[in-house]
Amino acid sequence: MSRIWMDGKLVPRSEAVVSVYDHGLLYGDGCFEGIRAYGGRILKLKSHIARMYESASLIRLNPAFDVDEIEDAIRQTLAANDLEDAYIRLIFTRGVGTLGLHPFRCPTPGTIIIADTIQLYPEELYEQGMKVIVADRPRIPIPCLDPRIKSLNYLNNILAKIEAIDAGVFEAIMLNLEGEVAECTGDNIFVIKDGRIRTPSTSTGILHGVTRRFVMREIAPACGHEVEEAVFPLEDLLDADEVFLTGTAAEVIGVTAVGDHRIGDGKVGPVTKACVAEFRRRIAEECPED
Ligand code: PMP
Repeated sequence: MSRIWMDGKLVPRSEAVVSVYDHGLLYGDGCFEGIRAYGGRILKLKSHIARMYESASLIRLNPAFDVDEIEDAIRQTLAANDLEDAYIRLIFTRGVGTLGLHPFRCPTPGTIIIADTIQLYPEELYEQGMKVIVADRPRIPIPCLDPRIKSLNYLNNILAKIEAIDAGVFEAIMLNLEGEVAECTGDNIFVIKDGRIRTPSTSTGILHGVTRRFVMREIAPACGHEVEEAVFPLEDLLDADEVFLTGTAAEVIGVTAVGDHRIGDGKVGPVTKACVAEFRRRIAEECPED
């Protein structure tokens, strides 16, 4: 029976319920993290917890537990569910309050940890590459809602995801209001041209992906490539030799077509293959926790 960590204790899934007055439900007021465990080790756990506390601080939510307590609770939840390979969801909600927006009338934030399994994309897509589209809907601009806040309201991304689903694909590339390539609905983007790897700079308005940083700092360099952060238009992505996406759930996956347009020769290219292989080796052999 699966067990959920809620506000300090492990409870059966059937008892893990949230009040209808929780502002996480009423307004999407709260933040979350998606984290992976491989072979009992939790990939980049410290980076995920740091980003969670940064999200919380940017929305002026004071977590009910400190970093060490949350780290402990995540390990307890994995163990309680007998999982070695898992997808972990960490959630802070604003907590129970009144029906108005006022966040500070919610005295205690809710804390939830779920450990389950996930397979985002079919395994064969990691070999063959994936087709995506470009969403019509732009990513929310930084001054409106800084996308580095991993908030409980994902409607901007969900509406772009619906465009992808309507087009029969799994992901959509989102541009910012200036038409620059930003990110996908749940993944960051890398493009390769003439052996040079670039990823949209954080100034384009993206989530600062933990997998993005892992690939920039460790995976690509181990494959003999440096990654540049840059601001570039959609044309550069369409003209690339290779494109791949990164995310906690997606891992590293090649993109071989954008709508009707083929990327490179329409196959997963050598740089992407090397990065996918290196990523898989690292999670299997050592799975760095920070
Ligand atoms: N962008 C968005 C909008 C996301 O939701 C995610 C996480 N699913 C990512 C990028 C990838 O970030 P990470 O590597 O930290 O999972």
